[in-house]
Amino acid sequence: MKQIPESLAQVRERIRSAAIACGRDPDTITLLAVSKTKPAADVDTAYQAGQRLFGENYLQDALPKIKALAGRDIEWHFIGRIQGNKAAEISQHFAWVHSLDTLRHAELLDRHRPEQSAPLQVCLQVNLSGEASKGGVDEDAAAELAHAVAALPHLRLRGLMTMPDPHAPAARQRATFAGLRELRDALCAEGLALDTLSMGMSGDLEDAIAEGATIVRIGTDIFGART
Ligand SMILES: *Cc1c(COP(=O)(O)O)cnc(C)c1O
Repeated sequence: MKQIPESLAQVRERIRSAAIACGRDPDTITLLAVSKTKPAADVDTAYQAGQRLFGENYLQDALPKIKALAGRDIEWHFIGRIQGNKAAEISQHFAWVHSLDTLRHAELLDRHRPEQSAPLQVCLQVNLSGEASKGGVDEDAAAELAHAVAALPHLRLRGLMTMPDPHAPAARQRATFAGLRELRDALCAEGLALDTLSMGMSGDLEDAIAEGATIVRIGTDIFGART
């Protein structure tokens, strides 16, 4: 198995090449290392190799790692499905949430954000591929939700997140990324200040960067396959 620092360096190089290939500044793209199901020791190995942002999908899986690595300069991002009964803890332990898709959850995150913390940075997850099974607000409901979330005092709406249908051909996946960018531009034209497009995973980061990704969320290609 390849070592984490080497894999991390390769992913960083892929990001850099993809940015240059489409005329973007590589420094405008942030790598979120997705450590779901992986042990705290793996997170620490990546941390020692310079990685600072880590993404987790499951609160119960994340909390022991967050506690074990407290004191490190790590920014934790929640990228999984939000459950209402977990919203308080998510809001207390994470700096970012990428997967917000209902106003009810937004209000819970807002209410439970600790007063001494900076606002919780949030992205709305948008379901652009029309998969019924998947999380995410429908495209035609996104604007109303975005304006409501932007008004909450302890949240800061930063942008949008999406995941293409993993079984769709590459061209359709890329069209999903383009759709997220167009939606972001439309919302900015309505007066929202959105600087973040969270899109692109191990298999498709190049297409996502070509369509404007500012955060790519990479798990497998850094930490290896999940069992
Ligand atoms: C697991 C996961 C990722 C990382 O996917 P890889 O294919 O392992 O890079 C990114 N985003 C979300 C929302 C995930 O659940």
